[in-house]
Amino acid sequence: MALASAAVDRVLSAVDDASSEMVDFTSALIRIPTVNPPGEAYEDCARLIGDRLDACGFEVEYFAAEGRPEHTPEHPRLNVVGLHRGRALRPAVHLNGHFDVVPAGAGWTLDPFAGIVRNGRVYGRGACDMKAGIAAALYAAEAIRRAGVDLNGSIEISGTVDEESGGFAGMAWLAHHGRVSAARSDYVIIPEPLNVDRICVGHRGVYWFEVTTHGRIGHGSMPFLGVSAIEHMGVILERIRRDLMPALGSRTTAVPVVPDAARHATLNINGIMGGQLVDGLQSPCVADLCRAVFDRRFLIEEGFDAAKSEIQALLQRAAAETPSLRYDLRDLMVVHPVRTPEGSPLVSALERGVQAVLGRAATQVASPGTYDHKHVDRIAGIPNCVAYGPGVLDLAHQPDEWCGIDDLVNATKVLALSILELTETA
Ligand SMILES: [Zn+2]
Repeated sequence: MALASAAVDRVLSAVDDASSEMVDFTSALIRIPTVNPPGEAYEDCARLIGDRLDACGFEVEYFAAEGRPEHTPEHPRLNVVGLHRGRALRPAVHLNGHFDVVPAGAGWTLDPFAGIVRNGRVYGRGACDMKAGIAAALYAAEAIRRAGVDLNGSIEISGTVDEESGGFAGMAWLAHHGRVSAARSDYVIIPEPLNVDRICVGHRGVYWFEVTTHGRIGHGSMPFLGVSAIEHMGVILERIRRDLMPALGSRTTAVPVVPDAARHATLNINGIMGGQLVDGLQSPCVADLCRAVFDRRFLIEEGFDAAKSEIQALLQRAAAETPSLRYDLRDLMVVHPVRTPEGSPLVSALERGVQAVLGRAATQVASPGTYDHKHVDRIAGIPNCVAYGPGVLDLAHQPDEWCGIDDLVNATKVLALSILELTETA
């Protein structure tokens, strides 16, 4: 649908006029150290976002993640959702940002929680992932209001917790409780930092599992009288290296996962422990137990059942061919892959926005990891979900994390134009 160009121009200049407010708001969010784990200062950050939403004319509600074990008196999990009603409630665009950040870590040359603005950039932990994205969502809506444009549909903006640790008390909680659902929203945009000209249409699947091998304890001077669980884990690891890794590397998804090397199925050995703790005093014993945790990323074309069966078959073959090899396989976590439907109007609205604002074509990508898209798709039942926001993906979780102010302004414009189109504003 063609938008009245006068309205578009007014909205774009309202974003430009709000640029220093947006930078200040991003800095203010960074100054609240919402470090996860353990989930510090969530309440302060939710209130800051809620107060700003209120000032921008949203109806604001807070949702504590009652019933979740990580929602404790010391570290309450508080989410905030604002609704801006247009002439009708639908179509409804929901913009969601997580306000938790990973720990600062080492290697910073400036204070990670000061919200420093320098050389056209906002610095700090969470600058790109994703406090700038929250500011972009909020000011996209506010620019539309300041431009005096009446929306046909509505806008919701949420600030949620714990995305970095799975999002169970955050987006998953809101989805489970019907606060984010297909009955309320048509489109969900998550302004994660995927680069300002890239639209993220999904992610691979995740299968975390633990393998335990069991041996028999014996005297270390006569290892032939025991059975080493560590050697048996070695047999399994060797089969993974020899048989499984080449097979995984040969599979390529049609989903545009970035970087290129992540377009294949992958496996990481996350941790391993066997026998006695190496830091402690040692007594001569054959290791009777060894455990390892694996992180398998599977493709939408593979599916979870096949990914798991392949592991089961590998373990069965190893056990059949190795006398006395005994093992257990335990699933730790499964995240199914998601993919925004081909031809989604949400993707085309953002593509047109990127073209209009940046003067170049947008690229569709998919994430090598996962983000809250999975909860939006699988629990809330809203397939029209993407990630699009300001900031450079590679800077997320790095020391001296920053977001460019030009990115922040441009992404806000793209979001504003997309909201106008998706809410069918004439
Ligand atoms: Zn993030």
